[in-house]
Amino acid sequence: MHIFDDYKSAEKFLKKTLFADYKVGQKKATWCIIPAGGSGKRFKSNIPKQYIHLNGITILERSVASLLKFPKRAALACIILIVSREDKYCEFLKFANSPSDLNKGVPIIALRCGGSTRGESVYAGVNFLKNIASVNDWIVVHDAVRPCVSQIALERLWDIGSKEPDGAILAIPVSDTLKLGLADKEQNDPTSVYIKKTENREHYWLAQTPQMFKVELLLDVFQGKTFSFTDEASAVESIGKKPRLIQGERKNIKITTPDDLKIAENWQLKEEGVTAGHNMRIGQGFDVHKFGNEGKFVILGGVKIPHFASLLGHSDADVLIHAICDAILGAAGLGDIGEWFPDNEPKYKGVDSRKILKKIISSIKTRGLAVHQIDATVICEEPKITPHKEKMKEILTMDTKCSFVNIKATTTETLGSIGRKEGIAAMASVSLLSK
Ligand SMILES: [Zn+2]
Repeated sequence: MHIFDDYKSAEKFLKKTLFADYKVGQKKATWCIIPAGGSGKRFKSNIPKQYIHLNGITILERSVASLLKFPKRAALACIILIVSREDKYCEFLKFANSPSDLNKGVPIIALRCGGSTRGESVYAGVNFLKNIASVNDWIVVHDAVRPCVSQIALERLWDIGSKEPDGAILAIPVSDTLKLGLADKEQNDPTSVYIKKTENREHYWLAQTPQMFKVELLLDVFQGKTFSFTDEASAVESIGKKPRLIQGERKNIKITTPDDLKIAENWQLKEEGVTAGHNMRIGQGFDVHKFGNEGKFVILGGVKIPHFASLLGHSDADVLIHAICDAILGAAGLGDIGEWFPDNEPKYKGVDSRKILKKIISSIKTRGLAVHQIDATVICEEPKITPHKEKMKEILTMDTKCSFVNIKATTTETLGSIGRKEGIAAMASVSLLSK
């Protein structure tokens, strides 16, 4: 992710990144704004709530990941996070691990220009897009703390909403009986509230996000000023427009309290194929391969890295994937990679280790297990691993369906056989969750 302190450098970056293959103005595009300047007072936490972890990944990272499920036909151009000027957390966000390749490569940027209210932050985003987007493009605004919106809901929003001149929002009809409460003034206690009357809930909806509007409509609404509404639709309504309500979903919850977080965590686990009351299992793996006299590259974590010699092995000698496979098999109690894929078996000669990994993943799936976390270390003097880590993570996320992958690299400070550059070793720890 790229972080910018001012519009100018962000604009320069986007124009350079997007305009090569994206003729803005000639082709319609969709721009996403995520106001993420909140302080999280209701959480009674020092960390703003969008940066609190939901099953090991920040709520904001998950909200962005869910937005990346936006349909391809919407031509997503960029996701813009509007963070506060004092934000000291956004630089630690990682968005490389998207489990789907939908909207792959869509740039995600953070602008440190957020205001103290949602309205001010969205205004800053729209104002920024004024010089980049064309008036007929769409702007999609999504809450930083709505991490569970589904691909189906996003498709529905786009397919119906993109035909609406006044825009559209996801929302759900009110299903509980709706009471108008009135505080007892004499008691001076904010919790002392009585029913004044029961409203007819029939026509009431609860607004969610994403909310989508044409660029020109939002520019019209803002007219160079911020607003104090709690969502963008209210601002659009205020100039007499009628955005359409599109059926959202209950699980598209806005996380405002610790209780909401618990509910969202359960949704998330369910999505990953794990139900509440899950068991965690842990496994570790280790592997070493030595260099041969020939070859021009090594394959590590599925990435082909140029090198003066290749690693020797019956398969493609992907030492990193082998260590991860062993850790998965260990956690599942299923022996080791040598038992499953014997190195004297001709059919595995030169085999792509990603195939082995995928086979192991499907076999643990049939046993009701899913990979929850992978942490691996590559140990070698050469080649340099760091430039390839993100690509490795991307491949491993794709193959294992696990969005929580970490790759580390180290040397042995020139000690021993690895230090003499005779080969490469890898270690991995993996946790699995059972259904
Ligand atoms: Zn191996």
